[in-house]
This record gives sequence, structure tokens and C-alpha cells, in this order.
Amino acid sequence: MRARRVAAAALAASALLAGGCGGAPPTTRTGGSGNYTEPPLPANAVVTQPQSAPASDLEPQCGNPTASLRPGADHGPALDAVRARGRLLVGLDPGSNLFSFRDPISGTLAGFDVDVAAEIARDLFGDPRRIEYRILGSADRERALQDHSVDVVVKTMTITCDRRQRVDFSTAYLMSHQRVLAVKGSGIGSMADLAGKRVCAVGGTTSLDRIRHIQPTAAIMTVPTWADCLVVLQQRQVDAVSTDDALLAGLAAQDPYAEVVGPALSDEPYGVGVPKGNDDMVRFVNATLQRLRTDGTWNRLYQHWLAPALGPAAGPPEPTYRD
Ligand code: GLU
Repeated sequence: MRARRVAAAALAASALLAGGCGGAPPTTRTGGSGNYTEPPLPANAVVTQPQSAPASDLEPQCGNPTASLRPGADHGPALDAVRARGRLLVGLDPGSNLFSFRDPISGTLAGFDVDVAAEIARDLFGDPRRIEYRILGSADRERALQDHSVDVVVKTMTITCDRRQRVDFSTAYLMSHQRVLAVKGSGIGSMADLAGKRVCAVGGTTSLDRIRHIQPTAAIMTVPTWADCLVVLQQRQVDAVSTDDALLAGLAAQDPYAEVVGPALSDEPYGVGVPKGNDDMVRFVNATLQRLRTDGTWNRLYQHWLAPALGPAAGPPEPTYRD
């Protein structure tokens, strides 16, 4: 736990430094206690003003988006190519505390998603270390799958009908729900309190689409990573952050003044992203996920990474298959 806190502090600090290098220049304000400098925004932060009308429907319909291919394949074009290469190329980001972040002692990536990826490598090679990470932001996940620069994305990626048009998914391996992160005592208790306020989100996410849909009067600051959102909340450059409770719990664990508030706004089933058409890889990953559900590994990983921040879980999501 202590290591995770230190890791988290390091992440927040590096996000701050990144902001200092590439963000908007500092501005000076005059306040009651004299002049002070407004902290710079993180690099690539963009503020979008409120929209005049709510965003249109969130999603095309496709039945149950989490229905995936039955486990089974051990060979096929995608699996054979990975085995010939000798390493699994995994897309994730190093700024998602509890899911994929740098352990400050070892310097290696650690977290729930990192361990799920390692289990896929274990089943492929008999060795969980046969992985090469490709660092991706949330907005880069689909493109990396489409141009085959990764074999899989394991990065808190919600399975949606919209995304299924462009990429394939495993069965769901974790269920989360969008909520709001606010500063304690700020009076913000839910998304409804964010009318006319400023909210931080990462581009290319279901979280951003949903904020636009249900709170169109909010101004939105988009930043490259969720760790950047914590920094701008701490600097009071936004009033709140909204994304999955699992990611918000990872941010709240880094800041005693932040709390997750309000009701669940959505279901966010996480799946392993796979390039479209790589059915052998989808079936192989689904076999690994089924092993994790039944051999106790899923419970062990949940207990280790997520239970301290999210509380106990009823168990892994049950898989749904479509063939
Ligand atoms: N689950 C959301 C999504 O897939 C947010 C997760 C993230 O940005 O990593 O869009």
C-alpha cells in the first residue's frame, strides 16, 4: 500500500512537471493575500466551452456488446505470429494508478491490467514476462489496434457497440461505473452539481462522451491522462473529474482531499481490445480470462490491487458468448 502511495505521488509529480514544460504559460493574479502565479496547465490541455445542446445519442445499438467468442483457439494467424515473434505486444498507459503505473522501487509497470496482460503471456509462452509494452493514451487505443502496432490493449477499455465497429473485444474482465471525483467540502455531490462548472476528462473516452451528454452546460478540460486530471483538480483549475469509479479510486488514493461522489452514471465493462478479425486471439484471451475467473487468480488480483480502494467485489463478471 505504501509503495502504491509513493508511486502515486511520483505520478502526480511527473504530471506536474510535464505541465511545467509544455503547458500554457503561467499567468499572474492579484488576490486578497497579494500577487500569485497561476500554475500552468498540463501539456496539451484543451478547454471546451459548454455546448448549446446536449450531445446526440451516445451509442449505436448492437445487442449485448460484451458477447464475445467462445474460448478455444490455440493456433491461428494472429497467435502464430505472436509466438514466432516471442513476445506479446501490449498497449497500456503508465499513468493509471492501480491498473498500470510504474512501481517506484522496481521501475517496472504494475497493476491489475498489467497482471491480466501477464496472465495472457503466461498462457501463450509459459512465461508471464514475455511482453513488450507499447505506451498508449486512452485516445490512441483503437488506432494502435487498427494499425496492428499492438497485439492487445489492456487499458481500462470499455466494451461498447461503437468501438466494436472498429475493434474486437474479449469477454468483460471487470465492471466499473462512471462517477465523479470532487474536493471534499466543495459542495459537489454529483454530476448534477456540475452545471456551469469545469470538469476534467481524457479525450477518446466513454467518460468524456457521457459528461457531454448528461451535463452539456459544463466546460470540459481534456488532458492526455487521468493523472493530469488529478493535478488540475488539485490546482483548482477544474471543479471535478469524471470517469470510471475504478480509475477515480486510484486518483482518490493519491489525495486525502479528493473523494468519489454521486451515483453510478453508467456500466463500464472492461475488455481486452484485439484487432478486428483476429478471432484466434479473441478466443485465446477468453480462455485465459476464464482460467482467471475459475482458478482463483481473478480474486487474488482484485484483492491485491482493487479491494483496498474499491471495497469487496461479488466476483468476476460472468462471460457472455455469441457463438
Ligand atoms: N473506460 C473508459 C474508456 O474506455 C475510460 C478509461 C480510460 O481512459 O482508460 O473510455
